[in-house]
Amino acid sequence: MKRIRLLSENTVNRIAAGEVIERPAAAVKELVENAIDAGATRIGVALVEGGITRIEVTDDGAGIAADDLPLAVQRHATSKLDDEDLVQIATLGFRGEALPSIGAAARLAITSRTADAAHAVMIRVEGGRVGAVEPASGAPGTRVIVTDMFFATPARRKFLKHPRTEADHAEAVVSRLAMAWPNIAFRLQIEGRTVFDLPAQTMADRVAALLGDDAANALLPVEHTRGSLHISGFIASPAHTRATSAMQYLVVNGRPVTDPVLRTSVRVAYRDVIAPGRQPVVALFLDIPSEELDVNVHPAKTELRFRDGAGVRALVIGALRNALLVPAQAEDISHPSSYTPTSHVPSAWRPTPSHGYAPAVSRAVHGAPPSLGMHEARLDLAATPAARILPEATPSPDHPLGAAVAQVLDTYVLAVAADGALVIVDQHAAHERLTHEELAAQYVEGGVRTQPLLLPSVVEFSPGDAARLLSHAGTLEKLGLEIEEFGGSAVLVRALPAALGNPDPAPLLRDIADELGEMGETVALATKLDAVIARLACHGSIRAGRKMAQAEMDALLRQLETTPRATTCSHGRPTVLKLSRSELERMFGRT
Ligand code: ADP
Ligand code: MG
Repeated sequence: MKRIRLLSENTVNRIAAGEVIERPAAAVKELVENAIDAGATRIGVALVEGGITRIEVTDDGAGIAADDLPLAVQRHATSKLDDEDLVQIATLGFRGEALPSIGAAARLAITSRTADAAHAVMIRVEGGRVGAVEPASGAPGTRVIVTDMFFATPARRKFLKHPRTEADHAEAVVSRLAMAWPNIAFRLQIEGRTVFDLPAQTMADRVAALLGDDAANALLPVEHTRGSLHISGFIASPAHTRATSAMQYLVVNGRPVTDPVLRTSVRVAYRDVIAPGRQPVVALFLDIPSEELDVNVHPAKTELRFRDGAGVRALVIGALRNALLVPAQAEDISHPSSYTPTSHVPSAWRPTPSHGYAPAVSRAVHGAPPSLGMHEARLDLAATPAARILPEATPSPDHPLGAAVAQVLDTYVLAVAADGALVIVDQHAAHERLTHEELAAQYVEGGVRTQPLLLPSVVEFSPGDAARLLSHAGTLEKLGLEIEEFGGSAVLVRALPAALGNPDPAPLLRDIADELGEMGETVALATKLDAVIARLACHGSIRAGRKMAQAEMDALLRQLETTPRATTCSHGRPTVLKLSRSELERMFGRT
């Protein structure tokens, strides 16, 4: 057995670097948090190669005095915790671990100047070796430059993903901090491109700026108090969902978090009004007395422990349900004449739902309080007859799924087979599956057939999304989706897969961008193809809530019979339920 010995400080720092700084985005987070803690009013972040080669964070905050500079890069040295009180933590950093950890793994240079200093000072740390403090030039505030991330820990370096993926993570981190601090101006540049340049602004303006144009036009305010817990913010109407949770901003006491309790609460609140698998768009700000939470749970400090988790859940769900169920009430009561359903009622509530969640929506409408009498009358126009019965239906013995006899709730096709089996088809799920199979088959045969758009369509994205889509342009073309760069972060759409009919290109491409972003650069192409085909199929499918003609319903049944793997939709939900005669007899106790 070897003797026990203490690890050198440098080794400890490298181990900590692996825990605290697992990728460039983690360093970006620590550096921006330090700038916020220093009282900055303006913070700039610039990344090269997703931050792997270079990270620069500049602030106009309090700066570090020359004498303190060597301490700043020493482990467990912090100016933020003087009485060992880990409960009442007001600042973002508090372990004094970030700078030494970064300095152990990378090359770190800090230039800083306090307001009363005659000039700036600078210190370098490279692979754990701390240099001397030197005079430098620079404005009041601090500039931290990190180069060659993980050059001193090559094993870590191997785990870094493609620069685009690292950039995406860093962008998410800066966006989240920018959301939490609207009164601070934030600029983010990636590979020389400005991703955003936000002035100090109100919370509402910051939310609109970060949530993206499509959601910003349909934001519902949230405001709710429950005991000592308070929540405010904005949520997008159910018509503006995303494929991933990337557009869910959660801020607790000024700290961006990814807390599972909060995420689940958001999902539960939206459950009845958005399609399964879709993600709501929200920016929520919670104020919780600090003794009600413990932030020291996770080294990256993004997870919290709520003393009263159930209370927080109730707060979030109550607030969101309020905002979702009475979208126009206050506005309408104060200005009755200004009421227009199209501007205030989420489009999901309008007579022709376009997002495939008609049944859930009618439930939500009927659940609205009776005081909304006028709306109820209006919204009842959207009500669907329980069933439309077809006058003539003759099942042929050759057709196991039978003949359509009714369309129920404009969502399900009810059919009867020649042998007496009852068949229920979810029209959207089934059509989606068929479209998926058709696209996949065409792809395997050499390329998906395309349908050029009469007018090419221009869609705006975030620079990251645009770059990601364009870098996959070759693959997307094989899937029948022809796109081109169109200056800035816009993408020109020339053609869509013919099998999709005539979908709106903007939400379709946005979903594909989300999907590609979620998967990152290292996912195998085959997996990506399948996921993209699933997205395409979803957009090209007959929606729930669409009335179908008898011939169309029968055609759907015939296609389902001849398509392998047709009994589950692309998301794994069933597409067809069949009750055979013997199952019916068993259920009714006839045998
Ligand atoms: P922590 O933030 O947990 O205190 P860090 O290693 O991140 O630990 O930073 C160490 C110390 O360096 C901080 O406590 C703070 O005094 C100082 N410091 C770091 N970054 C800045 C900055 N941008 N402006 C002013 N002071 C800073
Ligand atoms: Mg810190």
